[in-house]
Amino acid sequence: MRFEISKVLDAIEARVCTDPQLARAVLDLAEIIRYQDLDGGRPASSLRLGMVIDALARSLEEDNVPVYAVVHRGMLSDADLTSNERMVVRRWADDGLVEVLDNPGDRMLEVADLLGLPVLSRVRFDGLRGRFPWLVEQPGRVLAPVPGAGGPVFIAHVGGGHTPLAGPPAPAAAKLLSREWRCPESGCTLFGGAGGGGAFADLARIDRAPTGQPPPSLRNGVPTCPRHGARLRDAGPRPRSEVLAVRVGGLIRRRFVLTEEQPVVIGRAPEGSGGIMLGQWLNDEARRWISRNHLRLELRGNDVVATDVSTNGSGVRPGGSLAEADRIPLAPQQSRVLGAGDMVELYPGVQIGRPNEFPAGAAYNPDSVMSEAPTMAMRLPR
Ligand SMILES: [Zn+2]
Repeated sequence: MRFEISKVLDAIEARVCTDPQLARAVLDLAEIIRYQDLDGGRPASSLRLGMVIDALARSLEEDNVPVYAVVHRGMLSDADLTSNERMVVRRWADDGLVEVLDNPGDRMLEVADLLGLPVLSRVRFDGLRGRFPWLVEQPGRVLAPVPGAGGPVFIAHVGGGHTPLAGPPAPAAAKLLSREWRCPESGCTLFGGAGGGGAFADLARIDRAPTGQPPPSLRNGVPTCPRHGARLRDAGPRPRSEVLAVRVGGLIRRRFVLTEEQPVVIGRAPEGSGGIMLGQWLNDEARRWISRNHLRLELRGNDVVATDVSTNGSGVRPGGSLAEADRIPLAPQQSRVLGAGDMVELYPGVQIGRPNEFPAGAAYNPDSVMSEAPTMAMRLPR
């Protein structure tokens, strides 16, 4: 059982981040772990975070959907959690995967406001509706995770829907997120320079793709570190980046960020760090066709450049057209700039593109290219 829990916590670790481009909902970890009615178990359990994240993936019909977690510092010493759980959350904090705060206040809502993200919470937020009008004006922006037949389900505070909906980011966000920020506190995991450096930093995974800085807190209009309360220094423009996604069998499996500094290699099992490994989602035939390193993506200025580095080649589907006549072969070692709506197809049904531009109509068909591996499930122990 202990081992099982460690495995689930590892799976959850890949689904928490403070990257404004990847997070899909905001939540308060200290609140979620106490939803005892989700499983009838211990007073506090970090596995409930996994249950809520799985519910989010089901609801958005997308795999590997990360959440932005704000955590009260007291949770790091919460006696209702096991020492292993406390250590894992501390490691997430040291890696900057979650935001640990002495006084979270309304930070969860501030993040949701700046990024236009939905909030997963049972709290009513009555006193904050003036400052964040979307709490009552936008159905689907705040949803309560509640027990359902096959795991948690969501009920919107307003409108009664079940699907989390993003809204427009706050006007202040564009400027805040176009700059890099530095906290004067040394070793700040949210707004530090390269690397974190907390007590558990040596346990940090090194194969994680580089992620973007969280949104600064705005206090009286001044960009401030939410962790240290210190005024942040403007360290110049944020590097250009673009969000792309892997779609297999009609379902988005994973989004990733491409930056000017770091090309991304996609394949069956790419070498080196930061690659996107497809093997887990492929059947035998697709696995034979797709090379270990198959496609390299680079961001040059505003252009996404795709280069085939495989044995068998790829194809480009211009404007997302699924008509065979439109398919443009991308031979090994050939490069091409991806136009609007274009997607690269490594094998029929295995596609790379901008997540909002994937054509509809390619219905989710898990049997076409999918391996036997279960989708969207962390297989939480009951
Ligand atoms: Zn700081």
